[in-house]
Amino acid sequence: MLDLDKIDVFYGEVQVLRQVSLSIKAGEVVSLLGSNGAGKTTTVNSISGVLPIAAGSIEFMGEDISQMAPHARVEKGLIQIPEGRRIFPTLSVKENLEMGSFLKRPKASRRQSMDRVMTLFPILRERTGQAGGTLSGGEQQMLAIARGLMSKPKLLILDEPSLGLAPLLVEEIFKVVQRIRSERVTILLVEQNVPQALAISDRAYVLEEGRVGLSGTGKELLQNPHIKKLYLGL
Ligand code: ATP
Repeated sequence: MLDLDKIDVFYGEVQVLRQVSLSIKAGEVVSLLGSNGAGKTTTVNSISGVLPIAAGSIEFMGEDISQMAPHARVEKGLIQIPEGRRIFPTLSVKENLEMGSFLKRPKASRRQSMDRVMTLFPILRERTGQAGGTLSGGEQQMLAIARGLMSKPKLLILDEPSLGLAPLLVEEIFKVVQRIRSERVTILLVEQNVPQALAISDRAYVLEEGRVGLSGTGKELLQNPHIKKLYLGL
């Protein structure tokens, strides 16, 4: 579904990604791991088109999207939920969700999407009229993810969805990811919670200073001595 082939990305003169290659097959959950500043957000911003790539190529569903505008990528079903729960604080939960289905789509289909996300996130159904900004941090993250689902993604990119959440809510987010996957949405997950991310991932890539250091199945990486030492404190 997605193929990054040796992409280079710069901020000004500074090269941040070097020859990063990764691929995701339809139906997979793939994690992108790495310490602070390794280049995870830069990678996903290049995939969504927010950042230009200087070299290499990005293919999505067999099409070269390297030069495609971000909104055109969204229309193809490539949806990114950025880090930091960017919801509209003064709009209600329902209005926030409606903002996610701005794509030209018939009303009936939009209503169906709304129903689907409310079933995935029952807490949002209870709070449809409440202003987004008054939700708890965890609820805001659910809302941000639900809004992304409103545009019927083929590939959903989640950038650190569990950031800053209490342990119980972190668990809830991982359950949500699994529920979304069971709805046949392919997922690229950027995470700092390495053991939990690996446990639900088919495969993962570890970025180290802008390069792919390690990659493998979730199970393999959980057993990898380097990963155990660096991220699992073992
Ligand atoms: P974190 O887990 O801390 O979010 P990350 O792996 O997502 O880290 P990036 O945000 O991709 O890392 O940053 C990669 C490198 O690029 C870092 O050294 C960062 O300082 C640098 N960087 C990020 N954004 C910019 C920018 N707008 N201008 C210049 N340098 C940047």
